[in-house]
Amino acid sequence: MQNEKVALFIIFGGSGDLARRKLYPSLFRLYQKGYLDQHFAVIGTARRPWTDDYYHQVISDSLSSIQAPTDQIAAFTDHFYYQAHDVTNSEHYVVLENLAEKLDQKYDLQNNRIFYMAMSPNFFGTIAKHLKTENILTTAGFNRLIIEKPFGHDYNSAEELNEQIRSSFTENQIYRIDHYLGKEMVQNISAIRFGNNIIESLWNNRYIDNIQITLSEALGVEERAGYYESAGAMRDMVQNHISQIATLLAMEPPVSFSAADIRREKIKVLRSLHIDTPEEARRNFVRGQYAAATVDGTRLESYREATQVNSESNVETFVAGKMEFENYRWAGVPFYVRTGKRLAKKETRVDVVFKQLPMNIFETISDEDKLSDNVLTIYVEPTEGFGLRVNAKRLGQGFETRPVDLDFRHSAAAAGNNPEAYERLLLDALNGDSTNFTHWDELSQTWKFADVVEKVWAETKPTDFPNYPSGSMGPVAADKLLQRDGRYWIYNPMQATPDK
Ligand code: NAD
Repeated sequence: MQNEKVALFIIFGGSGDLARRKLYPSLFRLYQKGYLDQHFAVIGTARRPWTDDYYHQVISDSLSSIQAPTDQIAAFTDHFYYQAHDVTNSEHYVVLENLAEKLDQKYDLQNNRIFYMAMSPNFFGTIAKHLKTENILTTAGFNRLIIEKPFGHDYNSAEELNEQIRSSFTENQIYRIDHYLGKEMVQNISAIRFGNNIIESLWNNRYIDNIQITLSEALGVEERAGYYESAGAMRDMVQNHISQIATLLAMEPPVSFSAADIRREKIKVLRSLHIDTPEEARRNFVRGQYAAATVDGTRLESYREATQVNSESNVETFVAGKMEFENYRWAGVPFYVRTGKRLAKKETRVDVVFKQLPMNIFETISDEDKLSDNVLTIYVEPTEGFGLRVNAKRLGQGFETRPVDLDFRHSAAAAGNNPEAYERLLLDALNGDSTNFTHWDELSQTWKFADVVEKVWAETKPTDFPNYPSGSMGPVAADKLLQRDGRYWIYNPMQATPDK
């Protein structure tokens, strides 16, 4: 088949949640689309002793939401092999290599290997080291390492992890996952910016007043509470996903749409990211933690009540803050960012707020003294598309303007033809395309940025936690952050007439 890719996948953590919920369904979709056909095999490893038959059953179960004929599922799972493997035991890698070689010959895989680290980050360094010392890296084909988040806990631990991995893999063999980069609309930021003169020509501090990135979740921490207690919203969302979205919005147009050229621009713009002083961090960032509340007759528990959470936890489940890029294009334009759990609605979006016109010539004939802001909204999730808010004349005899929302939105899930983020990222890795993965130079900069805020927060315990009710849009301080600058959050699902 023309599009067929050839590779052996070795998944560390093959019995885990990520593998079951994301990796197996994504690989299956690639199989259904013909990207994977005869010349692929997967070795799943984890500590438990499983048989291949049992493993095949686990994989079939993970595909239960996908409609497919039974024989197609069976043909797919036939390519999967299970190997009980303790990643800290050197001898186990010898067994793994034997199996890998056997499969390489059986499926004619041309020594192409993709290693997927789908387990606790504590093990990433150990696995990378063993892959080299136990000669599992091939010399004839390609070796690619896909590595899950979190990549470090702060700058120092991220750097240490990076050095461990770099002792076995070169930078261009490393694919650091940020699944937000695999989302359709995040990629469409580039299409909107670089495909439209009317937008790109206004894309600077002469026309844009501020940019707002909101990544709000309706759910609480659920089963991830244990991990969350050691992370918090800043590390879980801002240092990675939000910073990546900001980077795509702020970067200069790349010379071409190739991975290398896009990376160059992302790294360049991140060099201009202002790293706050502790004093600025205290002023520019707000943290929050959700309290219990009754929403639609159901009591939602507070963060501190969740299992695996310390009943006096000071971990933040909400962050709002201000990022600034100190360069010619963006000087003076704040990028306000906001993320949190148990907020009013699940929504990821970017609101680009344009500057007001120099004057409102309708002021004398209209009751309104101020025109509405022009806003370009880029919807990322759950619907995708974009909207433009412009002012138009209200129907009738008098002269009044009203904001009109021009909306282009669709639900990719409903359209059914949109690849899931992990599916796209796995195919990118198979193609050797690293555009949608993060480079160390990007991560190092965003960690330096996040570290200042974390340090300031670690020094001063919050006195008001929990400080926002479940089902709200976060603490009042997040609104004040913008009010102080004479601005307001465009997206406010709490309003009586919700924003579209
Ligand atoms: P998990 O706890 O469900 O799975 C961990 C896997 O590692 C299991 O298969 C377990 O058997 C295996 N394992 C543990 N110790 C081992 C050892 N010594 N030797 C061999 N195998 C061992 O974890 P998960 O939720 O699948 O997460 C995996 C990674 O993906 C983590 O880095 C996590 O941060 C990241 N991630 C997960 C999700 C998700 O939705 N689950 C989302 C984003 C990122």
